[in-house]
Amino acid sequence: MEPDSLLVRGLVDNASRGLSPALDRSTTFERVPGGNSPYGRGHAPVAAEAEALLSALEDAHATVFASGMTAWTCICLGVLGQGKALVIPTSGYYEVELLGSEVLARFGVDVRRYDLRDPEGFRRACEGATLAIIETPSNPSLAVTDIAEYAAAAHAGGALLCCDNTFATPLLQRPLDLGADLAWQSATKYLAGHSDLLAGVVTTRDASLHERLAWVRRTVGGVLAPDPAWLLLRGLRTLHVRLPRQVATAAELARRLAAHPDVCAVHYPGLPDHPEHELARRQMPDGAGGVLAFELADGAIAGECEEAVRLVRNATSLGGVETLIERRARIEPEGRVAEGLLRLAVGLESAEDLWADLEQAIAAAVRSGAASGAQAQAGLR
Ligand code: PLP
Repeated sequence: MEPDSLLVRGLVDNASRGLSPALDRSTTFERVPGGNSPYGRGHAPVAAEAEALLSALEDAHATVFASGMTAWTCICLGVLGQGKALVIPTSGYYEVELLGSEVLARFGVDVRRYDLRDPEGFRRACEGATLAIIETPSNPSLAVTDIAEYAAAAHAGGALLCCDNTFATPLLQRPLDLGADLAWQSATKYLAGHSDLLAGVVTTRDASLHERLAWVRRTVGGVLAPDPAWLLLRGLRTLHVRLPRQVATAAELARRLAAHPDVCAVHYPGLPDHPEHELARRQMPDGAGGVLAFELADGAIAGECEEAVRLVRNATSLGGVETLIERRARIEPEGRVAEGLLRLAVGLESAEDLWADLEQAIAAAVRSGAASGAQAQAGLR
């Protein structure tokens, strides 16, 4: 089946013949004669249904977890150990840095860093390493990494390559086809799509790696509970309709923001002047995703803009039906991201309404920036 049909039809029929999946909340199951009594940390029928669908979508083995970060933690616990090296980017999803520096390093993992836009630095960092991660497009700077090139470099150094595919989803980008060993997504975002559940998914074509991940998940208890698994299945049914619309609106807003006199920079791989535009066209032929970032003159003006929006919501996260804006420097430590950078995660509202809201919010922010500049000048005199 094509992905569109697969997502709508699913793979497991409800025994009641109901069209909606069965929601089995059991945490323990009667022992079958001669077998064991399955327990909820290892046996979760609704989560398994989501896994069957996600496996078929990527032609791989999928494992779902309680959140995106649980998934990444289980990957790390599954393959790393004392003295083993983990290669992470200096920018990208900040919790990956935190898990590396604040947790894994305490257990003797050698955490090495590379610049997402420096393939040579990546190759060096991978020498003798066990696991490397790339994030493409990256959060929040929208850098695009050549998955095939980075997979070859990781393998040459002896490392497994994991690709964070959260911004793209398997509908826009296929890391496993390009040589990644593991594709990781926060399913909280586009897959679920409605900002109402946390989940993570990892896919791999390596059966023993898959077994290992399922074992670590069972041991640490990082399972996806039945209710969010059911909601994930619900969200997946419309992924192929939601995502293209989000991509189209993001592309349009990126174009308009790039022409706006008060916008200093726009980061969106679909724009022809993005540094990896050609790579993005090759690697993501169906669109550059639904997230973009733009920069205003400074942190104060960006902060005003974030607060002046009316239709857009000032909240963290992405991939849901509602458009969200966030000044990332409020979350990440100083120097990691430009002070005036705003991440815009596009939802399903009308592009015209979104543009009108952004225009008024930028104008209000610039006005208030000018007013406080004038006050400061007056104070100086
Ligand atoms: N990867 C990326 C790119 C993300 O943006 C996020 C969350 O924002 C995660 C991973 C972590 O996912 P979760 O919040 O589901 O743990």
